[in-house]
Amino acid sequence: MMRATAAAAVLARSSPGALDFRRTAAIRRVPASSRGLAVSPTARLADRAGVDGEEAARRGASVADATLEPHVSASTSGARSVVDPSLAALKGMRFEELESWLVGVGERPRRAAQLFSWMYRRGKLVEDFDAMEDVSRSFRDTLGSIATVGGDLELDSIATARDGTRKVLYRLRNGGGVVESVIIPSNKGQGGRTTVCVSSQLGCAMNCQFCFTAKMGLRKNLTAAQIVEQVVHARRLTGGGGGADARAREEITNVVFMGMGEPLHNVDAVLAAVDVLTDPRGLAFSRNKVTVSTSGLVPEMERYLRESSGSLAVSLNATTDEIRSWIMPINRKYNLERLLGSLRENFPRQGAGRHQRHVFFEYILLAGINDSDEDVERLLEISRSMPCKFNLIYFNTHEGSEFQCSDEATIKAFRRKLVDGGAMATIRASRGDEEMAACGQLGSPDAPEDWKPAPPKLPKPRRMRE
Ligand code: SF4
Repeated sequence: MMRATAAAAVLARSSPGALDFRRTAAIRRVPASSRGLAVSPTARLADRAGVDGEEAARRGASVADATLEPHVSASTSGARSVVDPSLAALKGMRFEELESWLVGVGERPRRAAQLFSWMYRRGKLVEDFDAMEDVSRSFRDTLGSIATVGGDLELDSIATARDGTRKVLYRLRNGGGVVESVIIPSNKGQGGRTTVCVSSQLGCAMNCQFCFTAKMGLRKNLTAAQIVEQVVHARRLTGGGGGADARAREEITNVVFMGMGEPLHNVDAVLAAVDVLTDPRGLAFSRNKVTVSTSGLVPEMERYLRESSGSLAVSLNATTDEIRSWIMPINRKYNLERLLGSLRENFPRQGAGRHQRHVFFEYILLAGINDSDEDVERLLEISRSMPCKFNLIYFNTHEGSEFQCSDEATIKAFRRKLVDGGAMATIRASRGDEEMAACGQLGSPDAPEDWKPAPPKLPKPRRMRE
């Protein structure tokens, strides 16, 4: 309940027309036991939910200053269950990895297609091996003793707003807290879509000064299985993927990595998850419709562009190093020149579809911080140097935030000047998706009193203090 209240508070203070979970009478909270996910024994979870030494060490990785050292090789649990490492986590495996694993346990590799189908195809999306009807009883028994298909998440609660947007909270089975997915239906008219926004970490080390999630620091990387399961469960919640009419069943069409965490700070797990999501033998999302958003971890971004066919978005949010290094400390490690230089080298993206020829910049408008005419001019300069699009985003202020959203007239004028200058620019419309348009915007991960020690609040640039 604490968590839902915190989330509601964030949403309730959002931009005009935004979702208001606090006011809506239609809000429903659904106990985990009545939904698709099994609930693990409370006692076992309670043991794991506390702040331990490992977590404290991770919090030490919070970005505070130029000494940032991202966890380039942040470990994930790979394809092992985080609850019982003796079990293989099938949802953490790419198709080929599943084939190899099957061979390793004395089975035929072609069973990988069978398992992928039961885990990921419409109308299946099974939660346990027993539901795999055309798999022999003996193989199901074997699987049950050496692997898990559950995804290592436990459903905590679901809150549904009047417009159908659903906030889905998951408790990590390996403890430490709760992560959030948001399902945003937008199925009106041609080109309608339903997007699921997934988390990649519990908390985040990047310490963006405007971000709610940043306040808890980094507590845990999610595994590929935990990321994939958020999408599978979203598909279950939207009609189980069955039925002929995609619109009627709110088919999940898009996946964005814009929930809690900096996805590329957990790059191994995210690369694996994107591969699973876009595999045509499984969930089969278009590579153009799976988007990873980064705050600007340049080496990991370059690796993602090399190794993945998924789409990329970059949270820009400032046009000078002075401002960006203040509001996004990652800029102290990889400044604008480094970030933009890398993007210029990599875009238009080789071998990618038309949709991926442009860099997608997200730009949260903060009143008096990054919304001046000079900012417009600098964005236009960027747009002349590489193929790109700007998504202008309303900022959702939250408790303790020193930032305010630019007013609507300013935002519209900002966009107009960009378009008149020849850039492509859109304003995220006022539905659920602008509430979570930049990573971490909707984080409601846990009771704030558990987040201490919070990462430091960074001082304004000297010029702005005088
Ligand atoms: S905005 Fe994204 S990268 Fe920045 S602190 Fe929040 S979750 Fe992390």
